[in-house]
Amino acid sequence: MGETIHAPLAKKTGLQTMTAKLLIVEDEQAISELLRYNFEAEGFKVSACESGEEAEIMVAEETPDLIILDWSLPSVSGIELCRRLRSKPETRNLPILMLTARGEEADRIRGLNTGADDYVTKPFSVPELMARVKAILRRAVPDRMAEVLRAGDIELDRAAHKVTRGLREIHLGPTEFRLLEYLMESPGRVLSRTQLLDGVWGSDAFVDERTVDVHIGRLRKALIRGKERDPIRTVRGAGYVFGERNS
Ligand code: CA
Repeated sequence: MGETIHAPLAKKTGLQTMTAKLLIVEDEQAISELLRYNFEAEGFKVSACESGEEAEIMVAEETPDLIILDWSLPSVSGIELCRRLRSKPETRNLPILMLTARGEEADRIRGLNTGADDYVTKPFSVPELMARVKAILRRAVPDRMAEVLRAGDIELDRAAHKVTRGLREIHLGPTEFRLLEYLMESPGRVLSRTQLLDGVWGSDAFVDERTVDVHIGRLRKALIRGKERDPIRTVRGAGYVFGERNS
């Protein structure tokens, strides 16, 4: 109660993509929706839940890049959830930003001691919260947040929506662009066709796994000229991996 809701940032560039995954754990729907709206407009992939129990299940299913965690939740408190996540090896370093209504110094210190990476006091300003989240993510997942992704002689500029290889500009359709971006975000990691479908087309898209192969083919064709090295490796029965061996 008594929390000021700030007007959403009316900014939807549609160009800048940022695929960091965010989980919002907040029982106040108005705040949760405000956050979802603004972070989705910035290109984040957002999921939300209202309790610590749900949050634990969701994190176990798909680990987000960052959690925005409300301090006061029904049953399991934000502090308690934070403590539980910190005690498990797989979520020990998961970035957590705590939302708190309490401005007391002692509580802030307690929050940070429990392992939150940062905290923001309610009522908060959306731009400030956004800036804090991005700052944490730039440290935690630099590849997801970088404006320009580089691998060998290939460069992908998210803001300018431009891809170059050496001095040559490469023109890609929107799907190939997103596919390359997704591959470049996880260099050296084998990505299954299902992961690529979820990451590029979205988990609710009705797309056949063969579609992935078709677009990988188109992407390769656009990227490779003459004797240039193929930056995408096919891993039989597993999927695709991006990364030039000598870079
Ligand atoms: Ca709350």
